[in-house]
Amino acid sequence: MPMTELERNILKAKGLTDADVARLGELGVGSKADFATVGDAATLAQLTGLAPALAQAVMAWAVGAPVVQPGVGGGPVVVESSDLVLCVHCAAKQPKDYQAGDLCPSCGKQAEPILACFWCGHSGPGKFCRSCGAQFVPTGELELAVLLRRDGLPKDAIPEKLKGMSQAEKDTLWGRVRKAR
Ligand SMILES: [Zn+2]
Ligand SMILES: [Zn+2]
Repeated sequence: MPMTELERNILKAKGLTDADVARLGELGVGSKADFATVGDAATLAQLTGLAPALAQAVMAWAVGAPVVQPGVGGGPVVVESSDLVLCVHCAAKQPKDYQAGDLCPSCGKQAEPILACFWCGHSGPGKFCRSCGAQFVPTGELELAVLLRRDGLPKDAIPEKLKGMSQAEKDTLWGRVRKAR
């Protein structure tokens, strides 16, 4: 089955020349379905001498092959949206390679607040204490977390415990914080 006009035009749009398309025909790749037989971009590149990036673009169109970053366990890189950091000053989304402590490219201030660690007293940006690894709690609940530490709760359990507490339970804890002052 010969390649349709549309298929030829799509291949050219991907960057193939007329000669490349003609060569595909000579090799027996006569339709979109034949790319499935070729199987993957590496084979297509070997078969036709196309540049690897071009071969990958063609295969992505022809068989829906995912663009896989090599060396990351074989799977595509998934950036979880929960890891997105928003600037506390201007709410701009921080770049994907954002690291705790970086300045916001939009407003130039430190994108995250500096938080104090309820466990060891160190402070820094990010979600976790760089000194002891404890997860930071909101600044407004720091004293509650310190109280829970004195109660003997384990480091990892305190942020979760605070998140799960009702306002009434927190108020009771605040009462104890005030008494201890
Ligand atoms: Zn900002
Ligand atoms: Zn710490």
